Amino acid sequence: MTSGKSIFTRIIEGEIPSFKVFENDYVYSFLDINPVSRGHVLVVPKEPVRFLHELSPEFSSELGKALSIISRSVVVATGATSYNIIQNNGSEAGQTVFHVHFHIIPKYPESTHSFAWKTTEMDKKDASELAKKISTGIL
Ligand code: AMP
Repeated sequence: MTSGKSIFTRIIEGEIPSFKVFENDYVYSFLDINPVSRGHVLVVPKEPVRFLHELSPEFSSELGKALSIISRSVVVATGATSYNIIQNNGSEAGQTVFHVHFHIIPKYPESTHSFAWKTTEMDKKDASELAKKISTGIL
């Protein structure tokens, strides 16, 4: 975290109220204050880092487990027929709260899907080098 406590740390510490749905030693989860749909939930690790790649293995693992069990309960509680998991890293990716978090966004039969997802053709030569570079960087 660059400076001071994030708003999510303040929520986790009880300084700011929230509609909590889950908490354990690693994760805090609550309803988004401006829901995209009914049941829009945020899942936040208690480790206060900005990007997903900065999370420790311990918190990553616990966050993964929590995401699955919270998603299951969101689906049951809301009757959602589909859902999106969205996670923004950095301003250019749409992140506005700089403390890692996942969005669980339920979708219903009447929901519409509106992702501006513009695809391009793969450059195979670059892809070959890039895949190797990413692969060798994974420790
Ligand atoms: P992002 O754009 O991925 O960083 O998402 C940040 C999310 O945090 C937004 O969907 C906000 O509506 C949500 N948010 C910000 N402040 C609060 C708050 N006090 N309680 C609940 N959700 C919040």
